[in-house]
Amino acid sequence: MKPRENRDRLIVALDTANTDDARKIVDQLADEVTFYKIGLELITNGGMELARELTASGRRVFLDMKFLDIGNTVQRAVANVARSGVSFLTIHGTDAKTMSAAATGAADSKLKLLAVSVLTNLSDEDLAEQGIVGLSPSQLVLKRALLAKASGCHGVIASGQEAAAVRQAAGDELLIVTPGIRLPDDDVGDQSRITTPGKAIKDGADYIVVGRPITQASDRRAAALRVLDNINQA
Ligand code: C5P
Repeated sequence: MKPRENRDRLIVALDTANTDDARKIVDQLADEVTFYKIGLELITNGGMELARELTASGRRVFLDMKFLDIGNTVQRAVANVARSGVSFLTIHGTDAKTMSAAATGAADSKLKLLAVSVLTNLSDEDLAEQGIVGLSPSQLVLKRALLAKASGCHGVIASGQEAAAVRQAAGDELLIVTPGIRLPDDDVGDQSRITTPGKAIKDGADYIVVGRPITQASDRRAAALRVLDNINQA
């Protein structure tokens, strides 16, 4: 599902230790943000209940679960997620069998499957360690983005540095979701392949994922508005 307005493009990452902290953030952003990402830390500490609450109150939820398993297991787990009413789910995009099984599990639902092509913390040396030689991480991202599309995934996670190449290679339909977003004055933190909200969208991202620049800000609502403003200016 492509976003209709710029404000629908912003997904705030609820990377908090517990659901009470996450609920506070959602309350503070209530008027500006409608889409939230829940990752493994929160999923393993009440996050599924929070996901159900958010969807019941009309918000959209992105579950960042990064599934990877044999087809039968992935298909059934994805079907369960699809029934929970969330909008986006990540799976690993390393092989066609996992992704096709996930696509079968999501069939006839509104769930969109996003393939994680290459984790952004992996370098050439890490790929060589896995037996992948002769392909750089960004070449592998492109190859896997095309495999994800061919296997029935709806989109990919791609850093701002890869968004343009993925868009060009994969065409308009594939959803591109980009984390690692920073405004020029933001703390970079542990991110390395960062881009601004506006540049990510201009390069072809449909959605951006923003965590700490909003969740750690003293005025979270103002921080979210700055991100939206940066998209609108682009
Ligand atoms: O706080 P920050 O804006 O860096 O958070 C980015 C979010 O996107 C985090 O939840 C992180 O786990 C997630 N993410 C990422 N890079 C990826 C995939 C997901 O930063 N390649």
